[in-house]
Amino acid sequence: MEPIYEGKAKRLFTTEDPNVLRMEYKDSATAFNALKKADFENKGRLNKAITLIIYRMLEEKGVKTHLVSDVDDINLLVTRVSILPLEVIVRNVAAGSFSKRMGITEGTPFQKPIVEFSYKDDALGDPFINDDYAREMGAATQEECDVLKKMALVINDTLIEFFLKANMRLIDFKVEFGRLANDSSTIVLADEISPDTCRLWDVETGKKMDKDRFRQDMGDFMEVYEEVLARLQK
Ligand code: UDP
Repeated sequence: MEPIYEGKAKRLFTTEDPNVLRMEYKDSATAFNALKKADFENKGRLNKAITLIIYRMLEEKGVKTHLVSDVDDINLLVTRVSILPLEVIVRNVAAGSFSKRMGITEGTPFQKPIVEFSYKDDALGDPFINDDYAREMGAATQEECDVLKKMALVINDTLIEFFLKANMRLIDFKVEFGRLANDSSTIVLADEISPDTCRLWDVETGKKMDKDRFRQDMGDFMEVYEEVLARLQK
């Protein structure tokens, strides 16, 4: 069917059902606002498989998501939504841009999780914003911001426990949300949750098991994604 959108890591296609889209996971990796790019065999398959496991688990815990069903190695069916132009980031431990911005050593745990928003705009470099910016940019109402934060914290609690059972520490992650195309008052979790969008450290060794291996040229990039999937399948 028709391609309707192509992003850095995924493509979206229409299906016979106007409310359902097919999401194809690509093999490309990007970092630093796509300044760094490369293709990795199996990346699409691994991120699709990991996202599927996580979304099914979240659905079981009562989190509403866009997931409809599995299709094949690299495709999922998802409900059509209009994506809010916000990246919702939850942090349990200082890392990445937090450490850089605040001068706090990577690995410093927080007393409570931090929720933050970035405005999705590549030309602006996805700037850090607050609820008032989100409202004035027309990205989300205050009520929606409150819902996003609440949902993000529930997802965080659920994911921390889930990854811990697989011997991984959830350092931080990014999620995106959408309003249902056929009911804009309902917000659901959309996009992916994978080692591309989470920081995961091995509990015992602290080994990085996420996209930081690509960002920092650490090697064994797809090998650790394979390991994340294998641990979640156990
Ligand atoms: N993240 C993401 N997409 C983005 C920005 C961040 O998936 O466009 C994820 C990132 O992988 C990490 C978390 O969100 O798990 C926090 O990222 P941070 O703000 O530290 O930015 P980064 O260091 O990735 O620039």
